[in-house]
Amino acid sequence: MNISNQDTCMKKFIGCDLGGTNLRAAIVDVENGAVLHLASIPTLAREMHETVMHRMADLILQVIQAAGMNKKDIGGIGIGVPGVLDLEKGETLFLPNLPGTWPHIPLRDTIKGLTGLPTALLNDVRSITNGEWRYGAGRGVDTIAVFAIGTGIGGGLVINGRLHLGLGGTGGELGHTMIDFNGPTCGCGNNGCLETYASGPAIAALGMKAVSQGRTTKISELCDYDLNRITPKLIADAAQAGDEIAKDIYEKAGFYIGIAAANVCAAIGPQRIIIGGGVAKAGELLLDPIRRTVRERVHVMPVDRVEIIPSQLGDNAGIIGVACWAAHSGDR
Ligand SMILES: [Zn+2]
Repeated sequence: MNISNQDTCMKKFIGCDLGGTNLRAAIVDVENGAVLHLASIPTLAREMHETVMHRMADLILQVIQAAGMNKKDIGGIGIGVPGVLDLEKGETLFLPNLPGTWPHIPLRDTIKGLTGLPTALLNDVRSITNGEWRYGAGRGVDTIAVFAIGTGIGGGLVINGRLHLGLGGTGGELGHTMIDFNGPTCGCGNNGCLETYASGPAIAALGMKAVSQGRTTKISELCDYDLNRITPKLIADAAQAGDEIAKDIYEKAGFYIGIAAANVCAAIGPQRIIIGGGVAKAGELLLDPIRRTVRERVHVMPVDRVEIIPSQLGDNAGIIGVACWAAHSGDR
């Protein structure tokens, strides 16, 4: 199905986020990126995919109703999905953070059937990438790379004015580019991926190590000597308070992200590199070493012109991005 430009202008789209903890859905004005109505319910992922898909469809229909709209006002639904998809078949293939991992689950056609609306799927970080590109930190340029640093490290690319999908939509997994081919084992099965060095858990582990080794650091006081309370935010707080060990942890994480970003510079020549996700709330603590590393390590392109900046749209980036994706991709 092709959605004409005129219809796209008139209609709103639904952006939906299938999270491990929450299902979120909103009506998005794809002409300006405004989120008009947002609702969130627990995913209850343990109840497995059939139940979760029905809850998602109900949530979407409720959002339309609560906004005082009808289905005919809605051009379609985009769903951001945390994992590997078959975009052609509209199936989930592997969702590592959801019970049962959702192999070959026909998410697109199920939601389309339950709501009667055209539905499109997109990986959750590619959704964020699309949102940041259209209405956030990537606005106005045609080639960007996004790193989303959280529990894992997700990524996405826009190249020459198009969201880059690659083989089956798998392109852009920047967290699984390799820092050291002999490095620690990654959740993906490879060794030494960026994610094993600079994700939230990797940063927390460096803090835990410092405390358990008895080093003198504010991290110990802030966590009250309870290793389980150490988070990237707690380490950032210690660093902001001047703690050298905490600063060094962010210095290391930023260095590794910088190495991955340098490789991306060589590969696609981005005008901007956007750093988002919960860990990026550390701000300059993380951005400064990323920028420094990229400047030092890239010599084959005009690296001074590459802007390395924080994301702008926060938690709504994915919902905005996937709604825009639905608007521009049609029923796919
Ligand atoms: Zn990996």
